Amino acid sequence: MIERVIGFAGAGFSCAVVARELVTRGPFKAVIYDERTHVAGNCHTSRDSETGIMVHHYGPHIFHTSNEHVWNYVQRWGRFENFSHQVKASTAKGIFHLPINLRTLNEFFGKKMSPSEAEKFVQSLGDRSIGEPKNFEEQALKMLGRELYDNFFYGYTKKQWGVEPRQLSASILKRLPIRFTEDLSYFNDPFQGIPRAGYTAIVENILDHPKIEVRLGERLTREGVKNFEHVFYSGPLDGYFSYQLGKLNYRTVTFEEHRADGDFQNHSVVNYCEERIPYTRIAEHKHFAPWEKFDRTVYFKEFSKQTEDGDTPFYPMRLDPDKKLLQDYIKLAEQETAVTFLGRLGTYRYLDMHVVIEEALKLAEVCLNESDIKRWPHFSTSPLSSGAGG
Ligand SMILES: Cc1cc2nc3c(=O)[nH]c(=O)nc-3n(C[C@H](O)[C@H](O)[C@H](O)COP(=O)(O)OP(=O)(O)OC[C@H]3O[C@@H](n4cnc5c(N)ncnc54)[C@H](O)[C@@H]3O)c2cc1C
Repeated sequence: MIERVIGFAGAGFSCAVVARELVTRGPFKAVIYDERTHVAGNCHTSRDSETGIMVHHYGPHIFHTSNEHVWNYVQRWGRFENFSHQVKASTAKGIFHLPINLRTLNEFFGKKMSPSEAEKFVQSLGDRSIGEPKNFEEQALKMLGRELYDNFFYGYTKKQWGVEPRQLSASILKRLPIRFTEDLSYFNDPFQGIPRAGYTAIVENILDHPKIEVRLGERLTREGVKNFEHVFYSGPLDGYFSYQLGKLNYRTVTFEEHRADGDFQNHSVVNYCEERIPYTRIAEHKHFAPWEKFDRTVYFKEFSKQTEDGDTPFYPMRLDPDKKLLQDYIKLAEQETAVTFLGRLGTYRYLDMHVVIEEALKLAEVCLNESDIKRWPHFSTSPLSSGAGG
C-alpha cells in the first residue's frame, strides 16, 4: 500500500494526537516539525537540574476533564496521579480560597453562614441597578457587588488583560464559578491529575511510532507545505500568512524564577489580586507533585503583558477588532487546499488540554473517514466558536 506523507507544524498535543491516530489507523506517514527544541508545546515539563523538581516551563498545567473517553485516552500514554487543584487569592484583606466559595465568604466577611444563607447574602450584595450587563465589570458588580469585585477581580483582571475590566466582554465572568459549598477544588471536573513523569513524557510516548518522524528546532513554513500531501498546522493562524492582514492580539506571560530552601508559600498557586503588586500569581512547582519530596524549592512570579515581536503568544484576546480580523484570516485559510489549522494557535481560541485532545481525536476520525485528502477540513473546529476552559 502506498503511504501518504503528511506534514505537521507543532509537536504539542494537537498535532501529536492527530499524527498518532493517522499513522496507526491509515496509510500515512507523519513528519512533525517543531521550531522549539522539545516536544509537548506549551505543556512542556522537565526536571530542574539543581533541585530535581518537575518544572512546567510555560506555566502550571493541570489536566482536568469531564470527558471519560479523553481521560482514558491520556492514561494510555503514562501514569497520572490524582491532583485536586486548589488556588489561593492574596487580597488587601488577607488570603482566601478561589473560586469564591462558602469558606471564602465566611472568612472574608467574618460570618458563619450556611450554604443557603450565603447564597441569599451574595444575592443581596449584587448591584440591582444593572440590567443586562454590557461588560465584565457590570457582570461582576451585578453578580457579586462592589466589595468582592474590588478585592478579588478588579486588580487581577486589569493586570492579566492589560485593559480596564469594563473593556472586556461580560462572557469572561459568566464562566467563573462561585460556590456555596466548602468544595475547594478549582475545577469542577470529575477527572483531574498530573502525569507522574511530566507532560513531555506523555507526548513523547504518543509520538513514539516507526511511522512518525520528529524534527525539532525546525520550522514548517507556508512554502514547505508543498512537500506534503497535506499539512496540519498548529502554529498561529496569522503567522502562517506572514501577518499580511495584521496581527491578532494575544497576551503573553513572562516568568521570574526564584529559588529558596524549604517551602516558599506552602501551596501550588497564589493569585495576587491587588493592582499595586505587578505580578498576577506565584506558582511553586513542587506542590504540583505532592507525591515527591524536595529540600529546596523553585517558584515563578508571572507577569502578563501584550505580545510583542519574539514573545510566545499565550492567551488570545479576542476583542472586537480581533474577531473582525479573524474572519478575514478564515477566508484566506479556506483558500488553502492542503492545510488544516488546529489547536489553540491555529484556531485562535483559549483551549485546555482536554479540549485540544478531544478536537484532535475527532479531526483524525473525520480525516480517516474521508479518503479524498482534498476534502479534509480547513479547521479542526471553527475559530469563531469560543474557546473552552480558562
Ligand atoms: C499559562 C497557561 C496555563 C495553562 N494551563 C493549563 C491547565 O492547567 N490545564 C489545561 O488543560 N490547559 C492549560 N493550558 C492550555 C494548554 O497549554 C493548551 O491546551 C495546549 O498547549 C494546546 O496544545 P497545542 O498543540 O494546540 O498548542 P501548543 O502547545 O502551543 O503547541 C504548538 C507548537 O507548535 C510549534 N509551532 C508553531 N508554529 C510552528 C511552525 N510553523 N513550525 C514548527 N513548529 C511550530 C510551537 O513551537 C509549539 O511548540 C494553559 C495555557 C497557558 C498559556
